[in-house]
Formats: sequence, C-alpha cells, structure tokens
Amino acid sequence: MRLLRVALNFLRVKRASNPEVNPIGLGDPPIRPQSAELHRSFRIITKRRLKVVVSGAAYVAARATHLICRVMGYPAKQKLVILYYHAVNSEFRENFARQLDILKAYYDIVSADNDRITESSRPSVAITFDDAFESVLDNALPELKSRCMPATIFVPAGVLGRQPAWDMEDGCADRGEIVASADALLAAASDLIQFGAHTLTHPHLLRISAEEARREIGDCRQQMRDIFGMEIDTLSFPYGEYSSAIVELCREAGYRRVFNSVPATLDPASAEFVRGRILVEASDGPLEFSLKISGAYSWMGYYSNIRQAFRNGHRIA
Ligand SMILES: [Zn+2]
Repeated sequence: MRLLRVALNFLRVKRASNPEVNPIGLGDPPIRPQSAELHRSFRIITKRRLKVVVSGAAYVAARATHLICRVMGYPAKQKLVILYYHAVNSEFRENFARQLDILKAYYDIVSADNDRITESSRPSVAITFDDAFESVLDNALPELKSRCMPATIFVPAGVLGRQPAWDMEDGCADRGEIVASADALLAAASDLIQFGAHTLTHPHLLRISAEEARREIGDCRQQMRDIFGMEIDTLSFPYGEYSSAIVELCREAGYRRVFNSVPATLDPASAEFVRGRILVEASDGPLEFSLKISGAYSWMGYYSNIRQAFRNGHRIA
C-alpha cells in the first residue's frame, strides 16, 4: 500500500512539472530523431519496462510473504537498501528532490556502512554517489543538506577536476560531466557527507594486472587520506566489477567495507564485507523509483548470480 501511495502522490505532482519524466512512472531517456539512437532508446525503454514488471511482481510476492509472517507471529526483519546515483543534472534536480521527499516520508536514511539495528520499525535506505561529479555537488548536496540526509560520495582520486576519460556507453548522460576538484570536495565535506574511494582512474579492475589493481585500490585510499586528512574506509568498484581476488586486495589495503552494483536487500546488522546496491537515476519516475527503494529489484542479484554460474559452467564444459 505504501508503494501505491508513494507512486500516486509522486505522479500527481510530476505531471505538471517535468515532461521528461514519463507519466506512467518510468523516467525514460528522451528520444532523439537519429534512427540508431532511436533503436537504442527503444531497447533501453523495453528493458526498463520489463524490469519494472518483474519487480512489481516481486514486490507483491514480498508483501504477501510479509503479511503471512505477521499473521503467523514471526518477527519482521529490519532491511536496508543502498542506492547509488551517478550525475544529478540540473534538469532533474526537482525530480531528485521529490525522490528525497519520498525517502524521508517512508524510510530511515542511514549511512552506507551502517551496521546498527535501529529502534525504528521503518526500513532503512542509504544514498551513495559514484564518480563524484560536479553536478552532484551543485544539485544533489544542497537538497540532501536541506533535509539533513546523509550520503556517501565515491571518488576516483586520480582524475579530480577533470572530465572522465573512462569507458562510457554511447549516449551516456554522464559524458559531459566533470569530476569535482579536491577543493570543491573539501568545501562539500560535512557531518552528513562521507567520502569513499572509487579507485584512482576508474579502470575495469578485472582487465588489469593484480599489481595495477593493487595500486588503483591502495593508492586511492592513500591519496584521499592526504586530501581529506582522515581515514577512508569504504570503496565502490568501478562498473561494479570485482572478484574474490579484488576483494582480498581491498581488505589488504585497509578498507572496512566495499560496495558492488548487485541489487540486494540487506540485513543492516550483517558484517558482510561486500554490500550490494541498486542503481537509481535522478530521472527515475515514481513507480520505478518506489520499486527500487522497496528492494523489489533484488531479484536481479539472484538472476545475475545464476547467469554467472551458467557462464562459468559453460566455460568449464
Ligand atoms: Zn564509476
């Protein structure tokens, strides 16, 4: 019911203000006239809609299970969902602010490395940003600050103040972004904003040598310690790519917790070193966003594990 209320409430305000956000709730990318791009946009939209449909079914199943557990007297488990954004462009700032209002109304906002069970009966959500883009400092942080909401920014420490030179998909909205400078990040530091590492240069960690990966992971922590004058305890993997060997390098470098991009609903008290996150965008419409924060996208984590196991099986065969 909460999801439905959230979606309807969000929809009511949204129609009037931003035509870029699809009124049925999917923040589909704007369609441009070029045919190749049109085809690509169509594929993205279809995929996103399919995910919303499956996640909607997962949400209904989860609510039914929750209800049965309550009727049978089983205690409800606290859950934590960690979100990750990239850029927050000014054109979607208003939409991002509405997303924060939804979070504030229905969730406890905690830090991504939180491992305490709260007294509250509400589920918890943590907000993170990968890549430390200037647009996040300009548009997201003021909105977070005005609502006293904490967040973590994962910083590629070797490219501060520069345009990203790393791999991005064609038409990726982050192409024109600039990574914030050290001065800008220092000025943005506050009790609410934590910083984590995102490696030095944002490489594909599985495509470089172990020695290069060790340097990317370890030197980033060292450089950030020098910039911010504090220990950096967390890291998020560029492109979400990692392996058990990469995780070991992170432990070796002294990180306390690392984050991938596998959607998951977490136990906040769990001591797991690797935590999953769900990708959200400032342009996400009400239905898609509400499903994501409810944890309904966690099926994608199981799906990706099965797909990985299937691929490994094929390789062995
Ligand atoms: Zn990144």
